[in-house]
Amino acid sequence: MTIFNFGSINIDHVYSVDHFVRPGETMTSDHYQKILGGKGANQSVALAKAGCDVVHVGAISKQDTHLLAELEGKGVNTEQIATLDLATGHAIIQVNKEAENAIVLFAGANHALNAPQIKQVLANADKNDWVLLQNETNEIDTIITTAKAHGLTVVYNPAPMDKSLVEKHLADIDLLIVNEVEAMDLAGVDNVDAAQSNLVSQHPNLQILMTLGAEGVRYLNGEAITQVPAFKVKAVDTTAAGDTFIGYALAGFTNHLSVENVLRQACAASAICVTREGASTAIPGHEEVSQFLK
Ligand code: ATP
Repeated sequence: MTIFNFGSINIDHVYSVDHFVRPGETMTSDHYQKILGGKGANQSVALAKAGCDVVHVGAISKQDTHLLAELEGKGVNTEQIATLDLATGHAIIQVNKEAENAIVLFAGANHALNAPQIKQVLANADKNDWVLLQNETNEIDTIITTAKAHGLTVVYNPAPMDKSLVEKHLADIDLLIVNEVEAMDLAGVDNVDAAQSNLVSQHPNLQILMTLGAEGVRYLNGEAITQVPAFKVKAVDTTAAGDTFIGYALAGFTNHLSVENVLRQACAASAICVTREGASTAIPGHEEVSQFLK
């Protein structure tokens, strides 16, 4: 089976700075990194590293085809990534001495998905295939309704959160994956336990994975709730922890592991991820995750 991931592909330009640039100021940065990023691309890499057959559906500039080679090198099928006369989505990220960041995000080609492309991709899908999406591309409505019309399993990670968009589609979602802030936003409350009881009572047929950072994860399936603690590690950079978790969780579900083993595997992979700097480069391979779990 294949997982079609409709997702963003970004180039992250990361500058170390003494302080964030102030109005009218020009500041020199002494450290620069250019990295493949975007929730969509990171999740595709995590899926591929976890051993899934993943087709990434998205768009980039036709001047950035090296990104296709980079994704392919990590095991992602790039045949459905359009190369367009538009800028690739990118983020200008300042990181200050306190490790806080200030980000300018430009969606660029990530917002150039179109209905015919989505329908054409899913027309060839098999009934067992899964569709994954986040909120960093356009055409969310078309992706979900087309996937459902084909009877596919739909997994939605609505980040960044858009409450009305999510509520509109909850009936068509098989698995919703949210972090604690997104869960609280969606439920309209200010603590995780209240978010959990609201979501379960309002959406009893929806499966929900709620990731809780260093606290681990809860899987809500109606009244059945499974909680797994995070592994204790020395976290140096949590970028892409959520994306790594999603890739390994979907690998576990599609391989029919028990819920506990799905969650343990995904927690292990994301725990390894937070011990390393970077995004897609911090995502561990399947063998490393298996060793960690021994
Ligand atoms: P991000 O946006 O940083 O990628 P997120 O907010 O989407 O992450 P989190 O809930 O922070 O997602 O983290 C996802 C999973 O990563 C957690 O469920 C947990 O298993 C693991 N994780 C996150 N932070 C830590 C940590 N400090 N130590 C161990 N595991 C962690």
